[in-house]
Amino acid sequence: MITWGCQMNVYDSARMTDVLRPLGYAPVDDPTQADMIILNTCHIRDRAAEKVFSELGRLRLIKEERSTEGRKTVLAVAGCVAQAEGEQILKRAPFVDIVLGPQTYHRLPEMVAKAARAGGSVIDTDFPAEQKFDFLPDSEGPQTAGNVTAFLTVQEGCDKFCSFCVVPYTRGAEASRPVASVLAEARRMVASGVRELTLLGQNVNAYHGEGPDGGTWSLARLAYALADIPGLERIRYMTSHPRDMGDDLIAAHRDLPALMPFLHLPVQSGSDNILRAMNRGHTADEYRRLVDRLRAMRPDLALSSDFIVGHPGETDADFEETMRLIRDVGFALAYSFKYSIRPGTPAAGAPLQVAENVKDERLQALQALLREQQDAFNQSVVSLTAPVLFTGRGRKPGQMVGRSPWLQPVHVNGSDDLVGTIHPVLITERLSNSLAGNLVKECVPA
Ligand code: SAM
Ligand code: SF4
Repeated sequence: MITWGCQMNVYDSARMTDVLRPLGYAPVDDPTQADMIILNTCHIRDRAAEKVFSELGRLRLIKEERSTEGRKTVLAVAGCVAQAEGEQILKRAPFVDIVLGPQTYHRLPEMVAKAARAGGSVIDTDFPAEQKFDFLPDSEGPQTAGNVTAFLTVQEGCDKFCSFCVVPYTRGAEASRPVASVLAEARRMVASGVRELTLLGQNVNAYHGEGPDGGTWSLARLAYALADIPGLERIRYMTSHPRDMGDDLIAAHRDLPALMPFLHLPVQSGSDNILRAMNRGHTADEYRRLVDRLRAMRPDLALSSDFIVGHPGETDADFEETMRLIRDVGFALAYSFKYSIRPGTPAAGAPLQVAENVKDERLQALQALLREQQDAFNQSVVSLTAPVLFTGRGRKPGQMVGRSPWLQPVHVNGSDDLVGTIHPVLITERLSNSLAGNLVKECVPA
């Protein structure tokens, strides 16, 4: 399995592994040893299809080499490029056996059988009426086995149609999984050792799943139910849209200790003109007010965000508004991108495309500011004592690594029995992308 793109693809790859396990497949690291290779693709930015075709060129050589040794290789292309390009993949790479979209991977066994029977290629990029989650086997994929942290997809697709984004076209309309199915999967994960769950969705806070009581549950209500699972210590969710940050979810950040004080809340731009052109449905000041409300509920809340520079029509003044918003809010972490034309989206054909060199300059300035803020945030936790959830060994002998509540990796000297437990750690040092600290002895009452 080769996985590109977001956490949802990581989750999907694990579920495809679950689907294929009853057929006798198990994951391997070396593609030359694989009887089946799935390339799980991402379409969000930059010549996505070209990258796929170049990788397929490499995989073709592996397939041919194995074939001369009498070994068969099923080659599948999955994910959002498969959804967007469909037939084109088979035209340009006829040696591919299966093309499947993100909504049809529960049908992989049929596709494998069909490809073997027909000796030709199979394509399935439907948006089926049935929900794939109803047909997937119980998850026990490598992403959960023995892991302390795991992803769990609760919502998929998007109805918001931001001007620049392919997601509504590749992942389809917004849909939420029923509460019972999410809770059952979460319980299995916790039984296998998971202590921290990140709920995933393209618009995760738009979650509106059918509850066991027949009503519609919000993400906040789901989070409360998850927090009742014994052994589940921490809950996170991503990615949220500012428009869907409901009052109950904001209040949950005050009332639900399991909800970690770190929120990924993309704003994309700080200019009202550009936010309007992007069809984001809120203004920069509305975003500022939302952050204020969240911080009033949970003063130690840290924020991360996504930014796009050079959306069509973005002027120097618009860009300055984005810099101003970043200074006003203060982010602990951020992902920033140059606008990249996605064919078929409204912004692709918009006039006033921004020149590449201007995008480069803006991105550099924006990233310098965000880096400063990230360093300052990481520095601000030095000399604090924070609860760290230990996830595994560090790179150096005798070193263990865990996560702070704010998602920072924290290194301490310690032993394997820390894994899966939460311990107070005195943070002593900020490293380039992580923190170092010492375990604090917990006081045992006499
Ligand atoms: N649903 C999330 C939201 O509303 O913010 C974003 C999901 S998108 C998969 C992840 C990020 O990719 C976006 O927040 C945006 O910053 C970036 N992105 C999406 N389309 C892009 C494009 N055409 N060019 C550059 N960046 C893009
Ligand atoms: Fe894409 Fe997010 Fe906008 Fe949906 S809300 S269209 S996923 S950027």
